Amino acid sequence: MRAVDLINKKRTGLRHGHGEIASLVAGYLRNDIPDYQMSAWLMAVCWRGLDAVETAELTRALVESGQQLSFSDLTMPVVDKHSTGGVGDKTTLVLVPMLAAAGCAVAKMSGRGLGHTGGTIDKLEAIAGVNTELGISDFAAAVRTRGIAVSAQSPDLAPGDGRLYALRDVTGTVESIPLIASSVMSKKIATGARAVVLDVKVGSGAFMKTLEGARNLSRAMVDLGSAAGLAVVAVITSMDQPLGMAIGNIVEVQEAVATLRGGGSSDLLELCVILGAEVMVVSGAASTITEARTRLEATISSGDAHRCLRDLVASLGGSPDAIDHPETLPSAPWQTPVVATQDGVVARIDALAIGEVAMRLGAGRATKGALIDPAVGIVLAVRAGDRVKAGQSLGVVHSREPLGSGAGLVSEVMAAFTWSATDIVREPLVLEVIR
Ligand code: URA
Repeated sequence: MRAVDLINKKRTGLRHGHGEIASLVAGYLRNDIPDYQMSAWLMAVCWRGLDAVETAELTRALVESGQQLSFSDLTMPVVDKHSTGGVGDKTTLVLVPMLAAAGCAVAKMSGRGLGHTGGTIDKLEAIAGVNTELGISDFAAAVRTRGIAVSAQSPDLAPGDGRLYALRDVTGTVESIPLIASSVMSKKIATGARAVVLDVKVGSGAFMKTLEGARNLSRAMVDLGSAAGLAVVAVITSMDQPLGMAIGNIVEVQEAVATLRGGGSSDLLELCVILGAEVMVVSGAASTITEARTRLEATISSGDAHRCLRDLVASLGGSPDAIDHPETLPSAPWQTPVVATQDGVVARIDALAIGEVAMRLGAGRATKGALIDPAVGIVLAVRAGDRVKAGQSLGVVHSREPLGSGAGLVSEVMAAFTWSATDIVREPLVLEVIR
């Protein structure tokens, strides 16, 4: 069938027959089908959707566009985690070493930040000397020999997704559940882990703004993983306020290290324990959630998870000193306090607003490929539910240029706070688990 016939078929809401999506993707990757026709088909998918069978065929076509790693010869469970992206989300820096220290092998490819959301690769590369661009053979060797590998997305794994995503990015066709699900899961399947935990964020700072959308995306991703023989669990978590206290790159590394040392913010550690316990159980690394939690918590008290992060950073070319003494990492020249002007209870700290301030400070990218400033960011001093007095610190803005208190970005941080005269019920961090 010609590309135009496939576009018309989807535009009119019909299902694709077996092999049609595979031939469309293959034709596009061979450059037989031009961008304008692929864009038209993607837009038709945004409006008409894909059913589960069509989404699975698209995912398979993306996986088969590149190489596929396999660790089936390893006796230890090989696991991965993925977050749909949020503000202050440094879970990979905490959870990956915890899982490795708890006896799992971790095979994780991560992304860079875009817009108001941060990315693990930017956080790791904020440490001088770190190079996350591992080739797939170095990545696979690190999983096999060290039991822990974190790298930037390899162009050899699901390269078709890279091309399709670049096209979606400029044609307004990112926001489609089957397209997002197939994009994420093609990379997870190609990376070779046998069990994956998905942290699907919902709320102002997340891609998914509604619980229903997060649920549908989770279900689609879990089903795609299961169809490919992976054990997948999705945890839907709130991203209405930033995760933890730090938003920025170096400040998030510092908070991750503090968490691995048993300090840091309790919501961050709790989320890591929840995600880690889920993936340990579905991978067979632990028999029950209780056992998994106990083992994960022990990796903090023993210092083993901290040592794993130190080894990971050293294996990527960074100095282990950065993890032993994170306070020596470069700091921004200006630190401006944000001070409460009234007594009250913090009802909400808008994650999107804080993420946008962080991006404009230089911590994130407005456009792909833009340079970021690793040292800038925001460190909050309070969480939703805290009672504060006028004059108390709400946080500190770390900037490259002087900001002046009460003006510009500082007032935007203040505006991200919603106040209540009475105590509020804190929203739970985990909203649902989809297995
Ligand atoms: N992240 C991905 O990897 N793919 C998408 O389509 C959206 C977010």
